[in-house]
Amino acid sequence: MAGESFDDEILVAGVWRRGAGAALETSDPATGEVLARLHGADAGDVADAVAGAAEAAADPHWRSMPPHERARYLTAIADGIAGRAGELARLQTADTGKSINETRALVASAEGTFRYFAAALETMEDALTPPRGPYLTMSVHEPIGVVGAITPWNSPIASDAQKIAPALAGGNGVVLKPAEWTPLVSLALGRLIMESGLPAGLVSVLPGPGRVTGEAIVRHPGVGKVSFTGGTDTGRRIGAVAAEKIMPVSLELGGKSPTIVFPDADLEQAVAGLLFGIFSSSGQSCVAGSRVFIHADVYDRVLDELVRRTEKLRVGPGADPETQVAPLVTRAHRDRVAAMVDRARDEGARVLCGGRVPEGGVYDGGAYYLPTILDGLPNSAATCQEEIFGPVLVALPFRDEDDLVAQANDTVYGLACGLWTRDYRTAWRVARRIEAGTVWINTYKQFSISTPFGGMKQSGIGREKGRDGILAYMRQKSVYWGL
Ligand code: NAD
Repeated sequence: MAGESFDDEILVAGVWRRGAGAALETSDPATGEVLARLHGADAGDVADAVAGAAEAAADPHWRSMPPHERARYLTAIADGIAGRAGELARLQTADTGKSINETRALVASAEGTFRYFAAALETMEDALTPPRGPYLTMSVHEPIGVVGAITPWNSPIASDAQKIAPALAGGNGVVLKPAEWTPLVSLALGRLIMESGLPAGLVSVLPGPGRVTGEAIVRHPGVGKVSFTGGTDTGRRIGAVAAEKIMPVSLELGGKSPTIVFPDADLEQAVAGLLFGIFSSSGQSCVAGSRVFIHADVYDRVLDELVRRTEKLRVGPGADPETQVAPLVTRAHRDRVAAMVDRARDEGARVLCGGRVPEGGVYDGGAYYLPTILDGLPNSAATCQEEIFGPVLVALPFRDEDDLVAQANDTVYGLACGLWTRDYRTAWRVARRIEAGTVWINTYKQFSISTPFGGMKQSGIGREKGRDGILAYMRQKSVYWGL
């Protein structure tokens, strides 16, 4: 937590100890200041964590605990998060660079996730299936055992909660590996989970490099499911290992999500949604609305307004509540974003605003990049096809609906889409034609824990959230009972 010393310990099977893996360093993206040095988990730590989770998850007390009793632990974790919400938000801002308003919302989301799955557990009983012969059948849901949860750096506490809460609700043990750049809030969550009284060993928190700690978790024979959120290339690697093991995986991957402005839209509402969709989290969001298709009749008007308002956005440190665009997660990532904008210039893009690193004052030493709007590129350009994961929006005009849908769908991704129109028929028709796991109409980037979330195409496999989110961490067994 903020103000707390980081004592180079990770959580392995209920015990805080120094990781046996490589040294990791995490720093504040706003200043470059080193926040903590840790040792990541190696394959031996992973083996201990899996063994601890397997033992704790096999304990008959936990395994056959009635759902409503298991729910009490989730509620206790939620209470722990609520009690330290301010500290958790400040810690996540320091670790990720995100603005304090966003990290407050992420902490509230993590608390809400634990409360939601606690409430869902209260109503979760297996039903008897009506017999169709001289027998009774029962279909029961059982825990998988040990679940590996691997999360990225862009919204750590919210991603961690979305995996840990339903996995515990399903009666499993969990081995969590947060991203190596942002381990601090996940370790803080580990402390709160231990304080909730949950059986020791059920949850481990193992920071470490993906290729070492992450792969060791995925390959471990004791891990019965992996739930992964991160990039598509990493998801492909994890999926290949899962295929070898015949192990279920859920993959929440990248995106290049289209947003669409029809000429009859409330343009004020559309511009506000577009700005939030791409520049909140400095574009480091899987659902960032990074390609905007604007009807030719309103193209210049909407684009002028987007540029005018983008130039007024306050770029600054995440800890400043007035900041609207905070730094990127690391300077190396900022440099990658800058290189992608340079490549867009080479592709022939017009840079309408931003397109550079800000200089002087607070900007020196931080991982800042100005919010950027480009146009003049075809949808086939690399800039329109590849995930940038930064504050970069590319605008494209359209006239014909069929052509629009073809272009919007012409990407390997299928995560999200936003569209603005006052015509409910256009909204419904186009929403159904777009290949995306989530479509927002006249709004963008709103989330509800009760609404399933996940991708189509190379944006992923499986859905998180919603009541069925618990079943994703359970195995179904049918029992026939002769009469
Ligand atoms: P990443 O794939 O590089 O890393 C994600 C996690 O996987 C990290 O913890 C990393 O250490 C681990 N990892 C890396 N290689 C591994 C391997 N071979 N085996 C096991 N684990 C491994 O992604 P990132 O850069 O941290 O995050 C950004 C990406 O995540 C973007 O593509 C973004 O779109 C995606 N994302 C998707 C969602 C979603 O819900 N669909 C949400 C947030 C982020």
